[in-house]
Amino acid sequence: MKSYRKELWFQTKLRREFINITTEVDRVIQDSGIQEGLILVNAMHITASVYINDDESGLLKDYERFLERLAPQDADYHHHLTGEDNGDAHIKRQIMGREVVVAITNGALDFGPWEQIFYAEFDGRRRKRVLVKVIGE
Ligand code: ZN
Repeated sequence: MKSYRKELWFQTKLRREFINITTEVDRVIQDSGIQEGLILVNAMHITASVYINDDESGLLKDYERFLERLAPQDADYHHHLTGEDNGDAHIKRQIMGREVVVAITNGALDFGPWEQIFYAEFDGRRRKRVLVKVIGE
């Protein structure tokens, strides 16, 4: 069994952004040379998520509205007693998840219809990482 590790770096212009990273993840599979296996993609920060869903602009706006309703940026958070200001971002990340695992078949992401991999940033404007780990043959 082979394994291959790569970090993808992001610096968003906005505090919150949704970025389709499917092409970058697919490139990691090509670089790994692995044809059959599994790929793990996880945010390495506790205020960002990696998730799989449709790349549809209305849906991205719906996520923004839904998450802001559940964890408003300007609400009072106990976490802010530490001097931080990103209580909302921690909760948004918890809702949207930390990582995804996808099967690799014939050297490609073995997706269902419309599945795309997203990096969701909830406290951006600084350099942050996503870990990609590929295992297989
Ligand atoms: Zn924090």
